[in-house]
Amino acid sequence: MYEIIKTDGMAKRGRLTTVHGTIETPVFMNVGTVAAIKGAVSTEDLRTIGTQVELSNTYHLHVRPGDEIVRKLGGLHKFMNWDRPILTDSGGFQVFSLAGLRKIKEEGVHFHSHIDGKKIFMGPEESMQIQSNLASTIAMAFDECPSSVADKTYMENSVARTTRWLKRCQTEMKRLNSLPHTLNPEQLLFGINQGGIYEDIRIAHAQQIAELNLDGYAVGGLAVGESHEEMYRILDAVVPYLPKDKPTYLMGVGTPANILEAVDRGVDFFDCVYPTRNGRHGHVYTNRGKLNLFNAKYELDSRPIEENCQCPACQSYSRAYIRHLLKAKEMLGMRLCVLHNLYFYNHMMEEIRGAIEAGNYKEYKKEKLTGMMRQNEKQP
Ligand SMILES: [Zn+2]
Repeated sequence: MYEIIKTDGMAKRGRLTTVHGTIETPVFMNVGTVAAIKGAVSTEDLRTIGTQVELSNTYHLHVRPGDEIVRKLGGLHKFMNWDRPILTDSGGFQVFSLAGLRKIKEEGVHFHSHIDGKKIFMGPEESMQIQSNLASTIAMAFDECPSSVADKTYMENSVARTTRWLKRCQTEMKRLNSLPHTLNPEQLLFGINQGGIYEDIRIAHAQQIAELNLDGYAVGGLAVGESHEEMYRILDAVVPYLPKDKPTYLMGVGTPANILEAVDRGVDFFDCVYPTRNGRHGHVYTNRGKLNLFNAKYELDSRPIEENCQCPACQSYSRAYIRHLLKAKEMLGMRLCVLHNLYFYNHMMEEIRGAIEAGNYKEYKKEKLTGMMRQNEKQP
């Protein structure tokens, strides 16, 4: 069940109740593609840094270790020792971006595994079956992710097929949830809006899928190379056509600034690899911009990454020490940076929720953006 606790302009402060606990929104889901957060971060760590939702990938887990194996081990929650909500993406995006040579047909997509080249077929039913085996809290519909530069005719045909696939996903999910041995018969289904940068296609598609009464609605196919302004323009156009009384999820986005802007446009679910990927490269987020800990100026810097940060890295270690670990290629260096970055995102979402509740989201956003845009050199 999803309820809206408070709105402030378009920004919404919501709460999604699931069998694995409640999700306070706006929320940033922490990405653990293969059922692990890259950078040697355990689910015990996730509890410490305030993670609400872990996100795993259908395609990757289907290829390795195999969703049947995960099912035999009791589902993803048991497998990775995480009792809070998990969202699994449908595999659509990976099939279209990672997998080799593919053939799209009405029934689904034939492609080759990026691990061993093995032939795989995935359509709406297969994606739902895999996600049901994984037993995630929220399953994503299987969609086509056309290139953002696809021409309008291609986009129209692709989106029409995505709608047909969505209906098949919904039917299959209902069937799976009614079977006696299904691990999570309460599994939720989110649909995905597509249409590239064509506002009219996006809006028509949003209107069609809004009628299906799904558990949540995502905007997909953004942050794939278009400008930030274009992304905001599409959100301004399409979000008003998605059901307000359901979660609104912007897939794969983004920088702290992107999140702040999207919340202001009515989005309340996010995920992105930036905090983990950047952390692994020694790039850490602060309220005064991003720092590159490889930089020589941190060699003798005994301060934490950010003063007053309550994350495990900042509580115990200095910039100088973490810089040394990174340079020595010690795994702990990466791990501390990833922990700090995920904490930074999770904590920012907490601030966002507080600001919406207090009715001063626009002021909060402006202040946060101004702070982060300051030059790193001006760090105290
Ligand atoms: Zn920190």
